[in-house]
Amino acid sequence: MIRFNKTLQNIKTYEAGKPIELVVREFGIAPENVVKLASNENPIGTSPAVVKVIKANAIKAHLYPDDSMFELKEALSTKFDVEDNNIIIGAGSDQVLEFIARAVLDEKSSVLMSAVTFAMYEIYAKQMGAKVIHTASFQHKYDEFMEAYHMHKPKIIYICTPNNPTGDATSKEEVLKIINAVSSKTLVVVDGAYMEYAAAKDAEYAIEPNDLLKYENVIYLGTFSKAYGLGGMRVGYGIAQAGLIKELSKMRPPFNISTLSLAAAIAASKEVGFVEESIILHEEQIKRYEAFADENGLAYIESYTNFITYLFDEKLDATEVSNVLLQRGVIIRNLTSYGMNAVRITIGTKKQNDTFFKHFKEVIY
Ligand SMILES: *Cc1c(COP(=O)(O)O)cnc(C)c1O
Repeated sequence: MIRFNKTLQNIKTYEAGKPIELVVREFGIAPENVVKLASNENPIGTSPAVVKVIKANAIKAHLYPDDSMFELKEALSTKFDVEDNNIIIGAGSDQVLEFIARAVLDEKSSVLMSAVTFAMYEIYAKQMGAKVIHTASFQHKYDEFMEAYHMHKPKIIYICTPNNPTGDATSKEEVLKIINAVSSKTLVVVDGAYMEYAAAKDAEYAIEPNDLLKYENVIYLGTFSKAYGLGGMRVGYGIAQAGLIKELSKMRPPFNISTLSLAAAIAASKEVGFVEESIILHEEQIKRYEAFADENGLAYIESYTNFITYLFDEKLDATEVSNVLLQRGVIIRNLTSYGMNAVRITIGTKKQNDTFFKHFKEVIY
């Protein structure tokens, strides 16, 4: 029998949102009737202009992409007013999280994060044998972070703002307060996967990579998977001081994003109208979810993201509700495995949300 690395013993495999294919296979529902509101993808889809670029680049599928990713870095450096050498590109910002864990952690390290946050922080840390410390609340509370910081001296602090899977956010002031209170030996990761939505909702929550660039021990992460509508292309980025980027780059395999992904991200980063349009639709539709909760006596967490988290009391069971909806072709995210009797629902198009409310009403009454 193979003796696997002992760090694997306490790692749970990441549970991804259920795919449309599974519902088609298991419940015999036609794919066009499945409503997937489980993975925080952009419900509008991919921008038609970007689809065109992807198609045009298909003819270059035999060629490795430009490994320097010059054009993409140039587009991002213009967008965020940083230099090329402040940027690292990953196959999703997930891969940048992996580079960070591998570059910084070993079995003597610990990492600190909120009680309920993006599951991959924990998984990458445990792969390195590091100890994972959670604060008591899902919100990123300064006092809780400081107490744990002084007790454990973590090598990495993860700040997910807005936070997945809860949807709340931490103000720029609070994030800077935490950053200013820790030593430069602790790397602070600010994961802004949903930042476009938070910034549109409330300027106090808007954090730009440039706000953090004066700190040698801070990295900002962004992704094309959410507001930019490119989840299937797998492109994300980290922005930090050049010295940190140089070290992380030693972990990057060559050609880590595909020729098509690179072309898609370059096109998407130059097209602001699509993100704006996505946010307008989102802001209009999320009001329906808030109103529904208010009208039906359901609690929810105020959302700064493209999803909403409904909190159930003892009358409803999140696993049961999610399963019954699944059988009806509506995929949402059950948060029971995060220790919450709650569900996370990605805000869809008007039509998808109509379908959700129709079934959800029947299921909860
Ligand atoms: C979706 C998400 C990511 C990264 O997604 P990629 O598709 O790997 O870029 C990172 N952090 C959070 C909190 C997310 O929700």
